[in-house]
Amino acid sequence: MRWFFAMKNAWLQRKNLKRFMTDPGKQIHSLEEITAQRLDKANIAILVLDFDGVLAAHDSMEPSQEAQAWLKKLCLEIGETRIAIFSNKPKSGRITYFSKNFPSILMLYGVRKKPYPDGLMDIAEYKGVTPDRVMLLDDRLLTGMLATCLAYTQGWYFRPPKTDYCRRPIRETFFSFLRVFERGLVRVIG
Ligand SMILES: [Mg+2]
Repeated sequence: MRWFFAMKNAWLQRKNLKRFMTDPGKQIHSLEEITAQRLDKANIAILVLDFDGVLAAHDSMEPSQEAQAWLKKLCLEIGETRIAIFSNKPKSGRITYFSKNFPSILMLYGVRKKPYPDGLMDIAEYKGVTPDRVMLLDDRLLTGMLATCLAYTQGWYFRPPKTDYCRRPIRETFFSFLRVFERGLVRVIG
């Protein structure tokens, strides 16, 4: 069902999706590019972070050392309450990590997975801001970026994704195949 929903809406949103590949302003290549100033400039109230591929390689329970350092710095500048985590895999180890280290970061679980827009809409409503002031950083076009199109939030496409082929060769290969597929699809239909 989720894949049918994704394919149908990828077609409907094909022009918007293609912009994430062609507009450098909609892309982030390193977490360090995201600063308090940049968020203010884009009028962003809430920054929503994907986990796999953005904060760490697939199936990690904690953000990478580099991501942890960046997150700590950003939290000091803008406050934890302006950051949320929306992963399609909100594993208990991750929830434990964030509640221990970043207790005021909102971590979503129990909502329909991206590309369903529900999670992003819930965040906007819960935080009391309009969806256009919510930004999702995600490494996937047909899940994260599609969800931003459907929820009318902003989106930053994260590339290249964080990977660890040594630790999870099959999983990482599977997800890199998915990314190649979705980029090819959006390139052709967009
Ligand atoms: Mg991801």
